[in-house]
Amino acid sequence: MKNNRILFAIITAGVVIGLGTFLYRAVRPAAGRSVRVLDWLREPSAHPEWAVQAGTRCLPDAPFVFPTDGCIGYLWGDAFRAGRRHQGLDIFAGTDAGVTPVVAAYPGYLTRQADWKSAVIVRVPDDPLQPGRQIWLYYAHMAGPSGDSFISSEFPPGTYEKYVAAGTLLGYQGNYSGDAGNPAGVHLHFSIVLDDGRGNFRNELDINNTLDPSPYFGLPLNAATAGDSIPACNP
Ligand SMILES: [Zn+2]
Repeated sequence: MKNNRILFAIITAGVVIGLGTFLYRAVRPAAGRSVRVLDWLREPSAHPEWAVQAGTRCLPDAPFVFPTDGCIGYLWGDAFRAGRRHQGLDIFAGTDAGVTPVVAAYPGYLTRQADWKSAVIVRVPDDPLQPGRQIWLYYAHMAGPSGDSFISSEFPPGTYEKYVAAGTLLGYQGNYSGDAGNPAGVHLHFSIVLDDGRGNFRNELDINNTLDPSPYFGLPLNAATAGDSIPACNP
C-alpha cells in the first residue's frame, strides 16, 4: 500500500515536470524576445540596430520591402501560449498609434471587406518565390483601441481588387486588439496567406495556412531558428 502511494507520487511528479517542461519550451522563444520588445517600446532610440525601415530591403534580391518602420518583435511560429503559434510578423513602431505608415510590401490587388476596421489583404497572383502560385498578403492592427480605423481613405470598407504598387501607403500602425492572441502595443501584424486553390484566401488564424516570411524578406523570421534575438539587417 505504502509502495503504491510512493509510486503514484513519483508518477505524478514526473507528469508535472514533463508538462512544465513542455509548456516552458512552447512559450520560451517569445518570452525571451518579449524582454527586448519591452525595452524597445520603452526607448526605441536606445536600439537603432533593431529597426527596419518601410520601403527598404535587407538583401537586394529579396522580393518584399519592409511594410513599416520598427522592431520585428514577434516572428512566424512564436508561441504566445501552448497550442497556438503566431502566423505572421509583429513589427512594433515604438510610436503612438496612428502615426507610423504601413506600406505595401509587394504589388497586388487590395481588398478590404465591408466589416474590416483594421485590416486589408492584397492578392498576389504570382508568388515571386513559386511562380504560378497565388498568395495573399495580410496587413492588420491598423486601428485605434476602440476600432477607429487608420486605413488610408484610398481604401474604404468594401474596396475590392484595387491595384497597389509596392510602397503604396495602406494606413498607419495601431493597437486595436481584435485578435486576442496578439500582444498589446502599437504594431503591424503582417502575414503571407495561402490560397485555397479556388481564388480565395485561407483562414489566416491557422499557421498551417500561412508561409514562413523569411525568404521573402531575406531575414531569419522563423521562431524555430531565430531564437531570442531581434532579426535585423545589420546584426
Ligand atoms: Zn501578430
